[in-house]
Amino acid sequence: MITTHHEYYQAMLDKNSEYEGIFYVGVKTTGVFCRPGCPVRKPKFENCEFFETAAQALLAGYRPCKRCHPLSSHLPETIQQLLNAVEAQPDKKWHSEDVRALHIDPSTARRQFKKRFGITFIEYARARRMGLALKEIQNGSSVIEAQVSAGYESGSGFRDAFASVMGTAPSAAEHQPVLESAIIETKLGSMLAIASDDALHLLEFADRRGLERAVERLRKNAAIVPGRSGPIDQIEAELQAYFAGKLAAFTTPVALNGTDFQQKVWQALCDIPCGETRSYAELAAEVGKPSAVRAVAQANGANQLAIIIPCHRVINADGKLGGYGGGLVRKKWLIEHEQGRHS
Ligand SMILES: [Zn+2]
Repeated sequence: MITTHHEYYQAMLDKNSEYEGIFYVGVKTTGVFCRPGCPVRKPKFENCEFFETAAQALLAGYRPCKRCHPLSSHLPETIQQLLNAVEAQPDKKWHSEDVRALHIDPSTARRQFKKRFGITFIEYARARRMGLALKEIQNGSSVIEAQVSAGYESGSGFRDAFASVMGTAPSAAEHQPVLESAIIETKLGSMLAIASDDALHLLEFADRRGLERAVERLRKNAAIVPGRSGPIDQIEAELQAYFAGKLAAFTTPVALNGTDFQQKVWQALCDIPCGETRSYAELAAEVGKPSAVRAVAQANGANQLAIIIPCHRVINADGKLGGYGGGLVRKKWLIEHEQGRHS
């Protein structure tokens, strides 16, 4: 059987231009991602990772190839200047004033990035920074060594990027409690799990908007390092059973980091049976605050334990899906999955 990835690989060997924009290829040995028709890269199949969008490749920790320019072939000078600035300092957290310091109007940068890549410049820089940090979690310190041996100066910000997103390693902050972080691969994409030895603190899709802020909140009280703990192993096994349709309720111990009101809403979410949905208004009535629909929706959005605390089971009163931090495609899939509509 020829899989899609084999088809993509063949398209790369053939430099088949019909696949332009259909996929991007990340090369594990170099940390670079390319267009299908890149003139220089002919990696082995096992070293290729395929992505549907450039943003996904960035989030997986790849940087754009300097030969085939996977982000665009004819970039306006402004965009090229900003891309170079990000690569010079991939761990940097960008703000509008940093853009202005390069004599570029932030709203121009925003518009141009949005038009070309579908994300703003600040989001691009964030995706690059998060991608590096998540890659380090996935591969441990071997990534840094690989980058150095591939000819990078100073590990190309891998360690710095990790520290900027996840905080300092425990050696630099020995008295802090330590949380372990790992990437769990699921049918719907990579998920970031962060846990102590006793409880899971965070489970989110790795490309979720706002993930970095959630991580920052955890960092206030703990150092986060790549690794595994009992709750991470347990949730990985439970997620596998959930996606196989064999598990409806999770038993991994969780830590609820929220206000009393938020915790009340999250508890009400857990009371919605698998396979059913509720409206935001129904949920508000459930927690005894029928007029606080907006606050309930906000507490719903502040959930940091995706799937486990089933915020995806809350939809608009008119039957429309409403919002979802992990994206509406995933929300729809999860609801249908729980209703047994995929089997
Ligand atoms: Zn290339």
